[in-house]
Amino acid sequence: MVGLSRLIEYKHLNPEVLAASGFFYDCSGSVVIDLDMTTNEPSPLVVFDHPLIAHKMMIIRDQATEHRPFRATLAQIAGLMVFEVTRSFRTEAVEVQTPVTSTVAQQLVGTITIVPVLRAGLGMIHGILEVMPEARVGHLGLARDEETLEPIAYLNKLPVDIDAGPVILVDPMLATGGSASAAITMLKDAGATDLRMICLVAAPEGVARLNKDHPDITIYAAALDERLNEKGYIVPGLGDAGDRMYGTV
Ligand code: URA
Repeated sequence: MVGLSRLIEYKHLNPEVLAASGFFYDCSGSVVIDLDMTTNEPSPLVVFDHPLIAHKMMIIRDQATEHRPFRATLAQIAGLMVFEVTRSFRTEAVEVQTPVTSTVAQQLVGTITIVPVLRAGLGMIHGILEVMPEARVGHLGLARDEETLEPIAYLNKLPVDIDAGPVILVDPMLATGGSASAAITMLKDAGATDLRMICLVAAPEGVARLNKDHPDITIYAAALDERLNEKGYIVPGLGDAGDRMYGTV
């Protein structure tokens, strides 16, 4: 991959999980994650390396942060991430008349669709819509079948012309990757082709699952954490994102 890569210290990550994920490579004990800033080629995982996002992640990780600031901060992080997530969106030239003269400016091509996975994904769309108010919002509801442990859909409300532009799947926690993988399959079945995912915290296991099931999808994460625990929570993580944002802890 051509472009700027940044070396990120992720020494706490389990090397076996990293190896299984398939797109990290070892470089003197660190992990290089491709943050390709110079081409429009998709890379499988983009982890944000920005002081403002890191500071806001500190706030939402803190168990003392109550639901109101948690929800507000989570939405702010999602809004900040949009700047990088939309980098590959296509624009076309249009002529506009400024108060001084006419000039050629750029406008986005196509209709953008954001798709939160209920319930926690809902907390991210407000921040995204703040900076991209023209976007449409589809909804996917997924619950876990207690017998098969597989995700089952209880809500699928998407625009019929979902492929009229770029689609962004949003879910704050990429844990096992089971529901994210199912959501991406649903979006592809509905016709989406220009698709990516935003999460706040990714577990290596979830990234590996998506990379295996949907290697064409770029994942944007505010943080890549260490692992899943035996209950399926991301470690260190931030707990149950839905409960924390809606005060149902
Ligand atoms: N979902 C959450 O909300 N938190 C986790 O840590 C894992 C899945």
